[in-house]
Amino acid sequence: MTNESIGRVVTAADPDYDEARKGWNECYQSNPREIVFCSDAGEVAAALRRCREQQLLFRVRSGGHSLEGYSSLDDGVVIDLSEMNSLSLNADGTEVVLGAGARLGDVYRMLFESGVTVPGGTCPRVAVGGLALGGGMGYLSRTCGLLTQSVVAMEVVDATGTILTVDKDNHPDLFWACRGGGGGIFGIATSFTLRTTPVSDVGISKITWSWDHFAEVFDAYQRWLPTSDSRVNTMLALPAQHYGIVAMSALSMTTQEELESLLQPLLDIVPAPQEAQFSTVPYVDAVSHESDLLDPQVYTGIRFGAVQPYFDGPLDPGGIALLRRLHAEARGNTMTFVLGAASEVFTRLAEGDPVAYPHLDALMSFDVRIDWTDASEDQGYFEWLAEFERDMRPYTSGTYLNYNDFNIDGRLYPRYRESFARLVEVKHHYDPENVFSFPASIPPSLTADDAQRMELPASAISALRASGRLTE
Ligand SMILES: Cc1cc2nc3c(=O)[nH]c(=O)nc-3n(C[C@H](O)[C@H](O)[C@H](O)COP(=O)(O)OP(=O)(O)OC[C@H]3O[C@@H](n4cnc5c(N)ncnc54)[C@H](O)[C@@H]3O)c2cc1C
Repeated sequence: MTNESIGRVVTAADPDYDEARKGWNECYQSNPREIVFCSDAGEVAAALRRCREQQLLFRVRSGGHSLEGYSSLDDGVVIDLSEMNSLSLNADGTEVVLGAGARLGDVYRMLFESGVTVPGGTCPRVAVGGLALGGGMGYLSRTCGLLTQSVVAMEVVDATGTILTVDKDNHPDLFWACRGGGGGIFGIATSFTLRTTPVSDVGISKITWSWDHFAEVFDAYQRWLPTSDSRVNTMLALPAQHYGIVAMSALSMTTQEELESLLQPLLDIVPAPQEAQFSTVPYVDAVSHESDLLDPQVYTGIRFGAVQPYFDGPLDPGGIALLRRLHAEARGNTMTFVLGAASEVFTRLAEGDPVAYPHLDALMSFDVRIDWTDASEDQGYFEWLAEFERDMRPYTSGTYLNYNDFNIDGRLYPRYRESFARLVEVKHHYDPENVFSFPASIPPSLTADDAQRMELPASAISALRASGRLTE
């Protein structure tokens, strides 16, 4: 074991340590004792076994975009997969094998050259590793499902350092858990095999209204969503009032004319827009175009906080008034992207191929983001996000585990909902010693006190009891 290669090790003594230790969000930076850059699954397995033998705490990192810095830690080891970023498309272009460190922008660009894509998220620097394990929502979700729903197989290094092939026939429970159960919990995913979808030109649109119409536009949008065609993918951007506008971006794998007619039922019930643009562009251009639809600054901030609650139903007038008030009071680069879900595609894909991601029935989610540069503003912005989440909680049905959760207080249930008890079982089976852990990870068992603190519903408690995962 001692002679096994674990990859390139960077420590504080190395000139590139500062660069190597950095995560994306300046708010959460750590000083690990080592960053180990692995180049294949064998090195990942060896690095993990070494951590265990030497009793070193470790975290796993692919793209480093964990909003709460969960992919790094002080004094421990970061097992980094960012250099495992290969892309290999099969001969007929129907499946692609991506290294966990492959970044979305590169994936979109390279796949587009072959006329295909995978339905991922909006940030080009986010890596497939953390994104696919947590869900992965983006431009094409309503049409093609979540990124994780395109995964047909994974290679996973388990807690013993064994390399597993994980798919519907091999380790099916782990396969289920790794699709929506989150990164850093069940094992280290070294590569993902994904089903691709053909793509060429797409219709895109940007429609803006005066901020004065905030409430009417939002209400019309949320009422239109459940009836809207799943070919339409939309994001309604609700910024802080000082931006002066609200805006909606839309993308469909159709011409602009078809997109326009698919959006007509919404346009019939919203106030008259200030501006409505439609065009037909290559998908890869649309993806870059979408990123700066509202304000490129939103994507370049170095200090960042974001929460993402889900809603199973529309907000009532009180909820809409609250949403409007929160944005009227918001400062800086505060922006809520209302992501339209409500697509039968999510549930249809899950029928034959269930995933742990628990929000497939949601009507919409709010991707609430703020970026800033001055550390002295951290507290104010985090308090605003915490207030947003707390005030909205009566209306929400859950939260996205790939975002911050300032009010979580150990309440993991909103992240996992009906999947929670089974995820604890899978965790116990594959990682009984809780080798993979961080403050918001799934434990291999719970005490009755934990269950109470987490405010677990009775159904989860009885499922945990039945599986022996709840100790008194
Ligand atoms: C600017 C920005 C934009 C975003 N946009 C979207 C979006 O459009 N859609 C969306 O769904 N999400 C989005 N996210 C959230 C994103 O999905 C998560 O931050 C995701 O976890 C990032 O993955 P990563 O590999 O880059 O991060 P990392 O920090 O490397 O990892 C995130 C978590 O996963 C674990 N992990 C990472 N790699 C592995 C692996 N190979 N095996 C096991 N565990 C692993 C880490 O330990 C950590 O807990 C965005 C985040 C940011 C910061």
